[in-house]
Amino acid sequence: MKNIYLLGATGSIGSQTIEIIENHPEQFNLKAISGHSNLEKVIEIASRFPLDLIAVKDEIDALTIKNVFPNVKIVYGEDGLIELAKVNPDDKESFLVNALVGMVGLKPTLAAVEIDRNVLLANKETLVVGGHLIKKALKDHPVQILPIDSEHNAIWQILNGEDKDKIHKLIITASGGPFRDYTRKQLELVDLKQALNHPNWSMGKKITIDSATMMNKGFEIIEAAYLYDIDIDKIEALIHRESIIHSLVEFVDGSVIAQMANPDMRLPISYALFYPGRVASPVKPLCLSSIGKLSFEKVDSEKFPLLGLAIDAYKQGGSKRTVLNAANEAAVKLFLNEKIKFLDIEKIITSEVENHVLIPEPTLDEIYKIDKSVKEKIFTEYDK
Ligand code: NDP
Ligand code: MG
Repeated sequence: MKNIYLLGATGSIGSQTIEIIENHPEQFNLKAISGHSNLEKVIEIASRFPLDLIAVKDEIDALTIKNVFPNVKIVYGEDGLIELAKVNPDDKESFLVNALVGMVGLKPTLAAVEIDRNVLLANKETLVVGGHLIKKALKDHPVQILPIDSEHNAIWQILNGEDKDKIHKLIITASGGPFRDYTRKQLELVDLKQALNHPNWSMGKKITIDSATMMNKGFEIIEAAYLYDIDIDKIEALIHRESIIHSLVEFVDGSVIAQMANPDMRLPISYALFYPGRVASPVKPLCLSSIGKLSFEKVDSEKFPLLGLAIDAYKQGGSKRTVLNAANEAAVKLFLNEKIKFLDIEKIITSEVENHVLIPEPTLDEIYKIDKSVKEKIFTEYDK
């Protein structure tokens, strides 16, 4: 029996994680959850599981929830997320599942590593912004960071038993998002509804916009560089419209191994929860004969400049990545609130990254300061 502490329980990854836990009550105990704006869903989940701790947005929500669940520990705010990550610190066999969106996930990931708790990581922003800090923390606390992101989970499945030194290239696939066939001219006119209409995946709003701009692929290349400790020039993105192959690994002998499945996040979540075993899952079996053909294309980096900008920010290092992520979070929020146009997202991020004076190895405090000032600057300028 494994205890699960779940950050972001009310979101897309969080809900799918709960579905799997609920289908395997003999294997998992959900012990703690967090929610942010969706208090109703927090209450609904908490009434189905006997929890030790619930983390909510603020003190008012904490009081509301305490009235409903007087015997459960209630915490709130960013400190509450950290408390959740560290609750029951002697429970070493447990998992923290980090399904938060945004860099708010960084401190809780670090907190779990520091108490020697394994982390199932969906929150890619943790590695984009604080990959160097996680790497450092893992030296003293060699826990496992198990990726839920489908491409990284695919690489993990492919590398099972392989010698990492024999990797020649990692190839991360991308559906190309809703605008893969649009021209730059057409991109000037796209609206929020079109951007949220992802062709293959159903996900939270922020990552859906990141997929439309291809920033998501840039983040994923950075994520892979940290997770597999590999030179970023050996990682490639490849447009694969069908989203059937989730990643490929090319080995030094010329063999290329791919992981395939219908696009359904319950598979990577399941693989991580049950590793090293596999269990039957509700994912629809793959029928290649009815799919017929799989296609592959190069990414058009002129049409989607944020992919190159992300790789460049990684190479420049340190605080450039903080700015890349902070400007992205702010710009995507503005776009979701229909304050800016689609192409303004890349304009805002590019300008912030280019103008930022690099700090090579930012501390956690410096990261939070930079994040705050970049977001404030962007909101002051555009949120009118
Ligand atoms: P969602 O937006 O669906 O869920 C995000 C979760 O985080 C919700 O529980 C939300 O709470 C909570 N949250 C949002 N803002 C805050 C905040 N400021 N403080 C505390 N909690 C907050 O996102 P997804 O599930 O789609 O994505 C989660 C992570 O997984 C992201 O990093 C994403 O990139 C990654 N990922 C997602 C995939 C997917 O298929 N969805 C695939 C691969 C990776 P509430 O809803 O109550 O406001
Ligand atoms: Mg992904």
